[in-house]
Amino acid sequence: MSIYSDSHAHLTYDRFDADRDAVIARARDAGLAHVITVSSHIGDADHCADLAAAHDFIHFTAGVHPHEAKDWSLEVARALERAARRPKSVAIGEIGLDYHYNLSPPPEQRAVFREQITLARSLRLPIVVHTRSAWEDTFAILRDEGAAAGGGVFHCFSGGPEEAARALATGFFLSFAGPVTFKNAGALAEAAAMTPLDRLLIETDAPYLSPHPLRGGRNEPARVLLVAAKIAALKGLSPEAIGEAATRNLERLFGLGAGPRS
Ligand SMILES: [Zn+2]
Ligand SMILES: [Zn+2]
Repeated sequence: MSIYSDSHAHLTYDRFDADRDAVIARARDAGLAHVITVSSHIGDADHCADLAAAHDFIHFTAGVHPHEAKDWSLEVARALERAARRPKSVAIGEIGLDYHYNLSPPPEQRAVFREQITLARSLRLPIVVHTRSAWEDTFAILRDEGAAAGGGVFHCFSGGPEEAARALATGFFLSFAGPVTFKNAGALAEAAAMTPLDRLLIETDAPYLSPHPLRGGRNEPARVLLVAAKIAALKGLSPEAIGEAATRNLERLFGLGAGPRS
């Protein structure tokens, strides 16, 4: 019975080149109903689409990460829209703001974030939001652009209870990754505990952020069970209850029919 899902992984990254098929097989064996492979730049979006086409339980998103915003152009925008119209495309992402690394200048990050929200709205797709050290601008842009109408998710949620309350007020889902399992999770664990079961997603962000007790190694979708187990402990529920709720939410957000799962 497939009950878990990974709402955010980067299966196209070269760290999976040597054993991608085995990683995908382990995801299925671990009972994953869905894996969303998320793109971070324009060539990656087409690779994600190709990978989704080859595996029934994989869907993909098309988006330009804030790190890559400096390379935005009309040509990139057109290629992005083409990728987002390919079969099994379920969202625009990951998009957003990252003022921690500032690999692109913040004004360009903001402009590219806005443009991609507009694209998502025109295609009637939800968005996958990456935000780091940029809460105020992220909330302001989501509000200005009317992003709530199309729905979305704060991926790898990194805030505490205050940011969680503000994020929940946008109507978006909150997706928790490996850091919630770390020993120093503190405020992040509080944020997970207060997120209602019907607004919760779980993810790996593989190959990054491997959960405790496998912290430090290459992450993969099967390890989303460790994230589910930690949130279950925080909420006093079973890991299966967390997995089932997160899968239901993922299907609702990304418009995946809840058809028979085996
Ligand atoms: Zn991210
Ligand atoms: Zn990511």
